[in-house]
Amino acid sequence: MLKNKLVVGNWKVHFTVPESTVAIEKLKKSLGTVKKVEIVICPGFLDIYPASAELIDTNLVLGAQNVFQKEEGAYTGEVSVVALAHFVKYVLVGHSERRLLFSESDRVIAQKAAVVVAHGLTPIICVGETLHEKEDGLSKIVVVNQVEAALSHLTALEIENIVIAYEPVWAIGSGQLCQVSDAEKMAQDLRNVIKALYGEKAAKGVRILYGGSVDQKNAKSFAQSKTLDGVLVGGASLDHKAFVEIVKEFESKKK
Ligand code: PEP
Repeated sequence: MLKNKLVVGNWKVHFTVPESTVAIEKLKKSLGTVKKVEIVICPGFLDIYPASAELIDTNLVLGAQNVFQKEEGAYTGEVSVVALAHFVKYVLVGHSERRLLFSESDRVIAQKAAVVVAHGLTPIICVGETLHEKEDGLSKIVVVNQVEAALSHLTALEIENIVIAYEPVWAIGSGQLCQVSDAEKMAQDLRNVIKALYGEKAAKGVRILYGGSVDQKNAKSFAQSKTLDGVLVGGASLDHKAFVEIVKEFESKKK
């Protein structure tokens, strides 16, 4: 089955609840009818509940930026997948900011991916090499290792329906774009690894996105890719006009 392209906006730690309401209103007004693209907004945790009501009967769905790996218990300050499951469809797992700033290990990321899947949500597992790793020629080995670790608690059937976002750390928020051909090569390498480990159906089904400095000016080249299934957008998703233009590049692309 051909899956729709995905355009995911990661709002990170921006927008108060009233600001996110305004941003959603603007998005709803300017998106119009989008049929071929699945549009996901990942606001902060506080914004998720009001946003879920604002998005009823729209073509936008919600994602969370993170989740705790255990369902409940004495884990002060964390957010449970059980609570999120009422409101979101997707959860970002292992974003490089979580890995680098909050020391999330491959082990924890694998647990998070598993708990998300167990509750019927779709993890968007983020992977990517740092600049040092790229300069040392280690991009492929680093990213493949991250993917292998993150998938380690999932079955082939479950992997068929997850999302992986290849986000080179050096490209995030830096304005330094990865070449489309390099992102495509990484996506193909990941599919080959998944095929070897989990079979052809899993390799074909998994959606692989690119993320890192995507904006309205460069989105077209990613939209035209036959290998990539969409994009994960940080900074440009905060500007509703830029985000809508990115979505429209994917919508207008011929299949
Ligand atoms: C991100 O944070 O996932 C991201 C891709 O950010 P940006 O688009 O700002 O590089």
